[in-house]
Amino acid sequence: MKKSLPILLLTAAVPLVAVLPLPDFWIAQLNYIGLYALVCLGLVLLTGVGGLTSFGQAAFVGVGAYSTAWLTLNTGMSPWLTVFVGLALTTVSALLVGAITLRMSGHYLPLATIAWGLSLYFLMGNLDALGKYDGLLGLKSLSIAGVDIGQGRLFFVLCWAILIAGSVAMLNLLDSRPGRAIRSLKVGSQMAEAMGISTLRYKITIFVIAALFASVAGWLLAHFQRTVNPSAFGLKMGIEYLFMTVIGGVGYVWGAIVGAGLVKLLDDYLQVALPALIGTSGSYEVIVFGIALVLVLKYLPDGLWSMVARKLPRAPRAVNWQHAPDLPVRSKPVLGDTVLHVEKIRKQFGGLTAVNDISFEIHAGEIVGLIGPNGAGKSTTFNLVTGVLSKTSGAVTFRGEDITALSSRDISRKGMARTFQHVKMIADMTVLENVTLGAYTRGKQGVLSSMLRLNGREEQSLMKEAQRQLERIGMGAYLHEQAGNLPMGPQRLMEIARALCCDPALLLLDEPAAGLRHKEKQALAQVLRQLQTEGMSILLVEHDMDLVMDVCDQLVVMEFGTLLTRGTPAEVQANPAVRAAYLGTEH
Ligand code: ADP
Ligand code: MG
Repeated sequence: MKKSLPILLLTAAVPLVAVLPLPDFWIAQLNYIGLYALVCLGLVLLTGVGGLTSFGQAAFVGVGAYSTAWLTLNTGMSPWLTVFVGLALTTVSALLVGAITLRMSGHYLPLATIAWGLSLYFLMGNLDALGKYDGLLGLKSLSIAGVDIGQGRLFFVLCWAILIAGSVAMLNLLDSRPGRAIRSLKVGSQMAEAMGISTLRYKITIFVIAALFASVAGWLLAHFQRTVNPSAFGLKMGIEYLFMTVIGGVGYVWGAIVGAGLVKLLDDYLQVALPALIGTSGSYEVIVFGIALVLVLKYLPDGLWSMVARKLPRAPRAVNWQHAPDLPVRSKPVLGDTVLHVEKIRKQFGGLTAVNDISFEIHAGEIVGLIGPNGAGKSTTFNLVTGVLSKTSGAVTFRGEDITALSSRDISRKGMARTFQHVKMIADMTVLENVTLGAYTRGKQGVLSSMLRLNGREEQSLMKEAQRQLERIGMGAYLHEQAGNLPMGPQRLMEIARALCCDPALLLLDEPAAGLRHKEKQALAQVLRQLQTEGMSILLVEHDMDLVMDVCDQLVVMEFGTLLTRGTPAEVQANPAVRAAYLGTEH
């Protein structure tokens, strides 16, 4: 309901507008709005959802426009074919720009897209074959079986049909396995990688998708205007596309249309009104837009559509996956087998040895606690085991396999799941959706099948598994709650459910009781004990001594990066060195 209402309204409005006796001027305006919105749609995915800023979208519009212009004029190829050539060229150039820049930290992308936008502008403006700054003239209008659909009302229907189809595909994508992975990019790569997601691959993917939307818009624009020249594809337009998207609501698919519409109409109005007001001609609208952007970013950072989105009903997804097939499960270690073997791992930060030749083992069905005063090296040990940090020396074996040199992503795929000391989740997704992220590696539907909604069965299986894991730890009542609205306790439990969704052979929890109230701690202890009776092996890094002494079978005590002692909770409690360490440094 939440997303189909605007689709229904739009789908009904397009034919209606086409037959209404609107002046041609307004149809032309709507055509431009549709074209711009198509570019903005790509930016919603790239910038709003994925958190990557691009000023270079106009350049991709140019690639699409010039491809079809040159090919139709010089080879006589049909525009219905040239669109695919344009898409191919766009894919290649986006892959190239993306692969080079997306590996670097986030700030390089905006700069690189500016450079890319500028260089393509000058390339288009200086190539003889592309007509230099005059561009290419005399393109044919689009037609089907001799009927001209490249202008006026028929073009309006074509353009907006593509826009609506693109919006639906985007909504489908965002509400899918790859879509949730894309939505997780914004909270940093650590959580996504720990769920087995290749964040680089998805960054490149959304960069290419956004470029493809721009390219289609360029193809349409070229045949609509019947001429192409570089000025429409320069940096100024690139900035304007971003501006439209931000004003409309960069996180919302419908924000693209709202933003494109508003900016186009306002632009035309101001271009006439402002010079008249001021008395001299000039591009004063640029100043107004600059001020407007600052105001929007300050007072309405989520854009205009966010006000509408808040009012729309948020109906929960129908619970109809009870009969979906179960996801594949991995073979589990036999009770008592060695699951994890840590051999003299060491981590040096410059001169500081944060972890000094620590060794320990975890057997299947055991809860092992890793404790020690603040700064003892617990989190660093945790990160060495899970592959987040590289080891200075030492080895880690997981289920008999050497995982010392593997990345956190590959380790997670082998069945080691973790939670985070500071909860990492996607606040605007439901609890159920957040938890499905944990089952990412157990599904395989990709971007295209998700856009086309061919992923239904797998989605049901993923949801069913997420629900099962949430119910397993007593969170069945929170399925459709917005994750960001949960109190700390349920948030931490949600992270455990998410980790369980990856069907782990070993669960690593980093301070799961931090920030919990007494009651919540008791509930957590109950969950841990229950998981243990179900055969789960757990490594628990924890500050709370009562909890640790209560649930752990074995304890590993660290101090200043070194191993102080190992043993059962009773042995450790009786150890004078442990008492000294805690009394000496903590109290
Ligand atoms: P714990 O989790 O037991 O409180 P940590 O593993 O976080 O301890 O830290 C152990 C020691 O390593 C501390 O002295 C900390 O300051 C240092 N340390 C942790 N991470 C880094 C880092 N990335 N760079 C430099 N020093 C670090
Ligand atoms: Mg820590």
